[in-house]
Amino acid sequence: MMLKSVLHHSTTIHSLRCHFNTIPHRQMTTGTQSIVSRLKSSGLLQTKGLIGGKWTDAYDGRTIEVNNPASGEVIASVACMGEKETKDAISSAYEAFAHWSKLTGSERSNRLRSWYNLLMQHKEELGELITLEQGKPLKEAIGEVGYGASFLEFFAEEAKRVYGDIIPSTLPDRRVFVLKQPVGVVAAITPWNFPLAMITRKVGPALACGCTVVIKPSEFTPLTALAAAELALQSGIPPGVLNVVMGDAPKIGNSLLESTQVRKITFTGSTAVGKKLMAGAADTVKKVSLELGGNAPCIVFDDADLEVALKGTLATKFRNSGQTCVCANRILVQEGIYEKFTSAFSNAVKDLKVGNGFSEGVVQGPLINEAAVQKVESFVQDAISKGANVLAGGKRHSLGFTFYEPTIIGDVKNDMLIARQEVFGPVAPIIRFKTEEEAIQIANDTNAGLAAYFFTNSIKRSWRVSEALEYGIVGVNEGLVSTEVAPFGGYKQSGLGREGSKYGLDEYTEIKYICMGNLG
Ligand code: NAP
Repeated sequence: MMLKSVLHHSTTIHSLRCHFNTIPHRQMTTGTQSIVSRLKSSGLLQTKGLIGGKWTDAYDGRTIEVNNPASGEVIASVACMGEKETKDAISSAYEAFAHWSKLTGSERSNRLRSWYNLLMQHKEELGELITLEQGKPLKEAIGEVGYGASFLEFFAEEAKRVYGDIIPSTLPDRRVFVLKQPVGVVAAITPWNFPLAMITRKVGPALACGCTVVIKPSEFTPLTALAAAELALQSGIPPGVLNVVMGDAPKIGNSLLESTQVRKITFTGSTAVGKKLMAGAADTVKKVSLELGGNAPCIVFDDADLEVALKGTLATKFRNSGQTCVCANRILVQEGIYEKFTSAFSNAVKDLKVGNGFSEGVVQGPLINEAAVQKVESFVQDAISKGANVLAGGKRHSLGFTFYEPTIIGDVKNDMLIARQEVFGPVAPIIRFKTEEEAIQIANDTNAGLAAYFFTNSIKRSWRVSEALEYGIVGVNEGLVSTEVAPFGGYKQSGLGREGSKYGLDEYTEIKYICMGNLG
């Protein structure tokens, strides 16, 4: 299959955002200006790509604007790169691999640990950068920095533990060894919803076992990636080990896929793009890891502790304004607790403060862009037209821009659009069910299989339902499940492979079997 035709559709969309530096910028407010100048003077506001340790403009001078979704302001213009820059980034990663892969685990561990320390030292500034370009509330953004940095700390420790095996031989004069070796140059393509953590969750294990990387962050949130790369340089990670290119996603994607020097592609993002990349990786038979979209059920059984269920459901649904792959997408509530739960849930949601992520007390920021709001609106309209009821919110927020009211919709059916696809916004659709069997059937009736949640006070049910759910991650009486020490990833079309934990390292290694004979 020709890669160009595989990725053609997105090319048309993306080429619109890159431009030569002639478009007038929307003025920043003084508040934003002062944050931006502080970040500039700390050296964390980088706008060029990083190739072979050098900050590099797009070769044709094109740039792409980065907006603050809470205000529409242009915060910066960054290099809009394509094929040529990507090829050079791959070459520099390939050259750097020769040296980096030969360091001891302990030497790589030290560099990763220094990078972790620098991220933590700069967590407020990095948090500000995330809020500026992504919109999530500052407290949540600083939380993401801690979460993102934790992957570097964890894999700095694991760098020393890339163990092989000695297998008892079937013949007396032979010995059988297993070595784990780094896979080579890794291409890491990441989304905008966690601009830092989705990068470190890939780059931490890759660097730990000796791989080098070319990162392609989202065009919506490149600034956090570039700031993290600046801190990687400061931490002594050698030039070329970590490269960043951004801009024309399909062109960059094609170059990464076509290269025989790139041995692994690791992607987090939509299922549609993940499928294209998987097909494109076939030509060069690359290793592939995919962290794709979810359609998480969150089941509240009659025997649940109402307070625990409310707290957990609020956390899993409304974190990052509903823009996470593990956000509850369908809330299944058993008939005996339905009225009580929906009324308490609606009251709690009405109290969620919406606004600019820099304002005190705000817990719900804007959506990433206008297209995201239109998608939410169309899903809500579809549900209403098919008989669902709005219990809270249900429309754009009076703040304008891309703000949407935290919303609850009751009497949703599992065949409505909002229950079939990820809404990726602050909308909680509630589905009523009668029995445990029915809940499991509804929960599993989807092509996705990333995260699922349920609330119950029965230990027997906890085991039964955990085992029956076709999901890679299950939260029992818990709405927040992400941690660097546990394997993160999905069943079915939610992806391939796992990130974080000891399992996350395997994605970046090849297994070599060495048979040593004639020893008798
Ligand atoms: P997306 O549109 O698929 O974009 C993800 C990344 O792929 C971005 O860097 C994007 O670049 C790039 N991209 C887009 N088209 C490409 C192409 N043809 N070739 C190469 N790269 C291409 O997803 P998103 O909207 O950013 O993120 C939201 C999705 O990510 C949701 O479905 C969510 O569930 C999923 N997600 C999954 C996980 C997980 O762990 N499973 C975690 C977070 C998010 P540009 O942005 O520059 O276009």
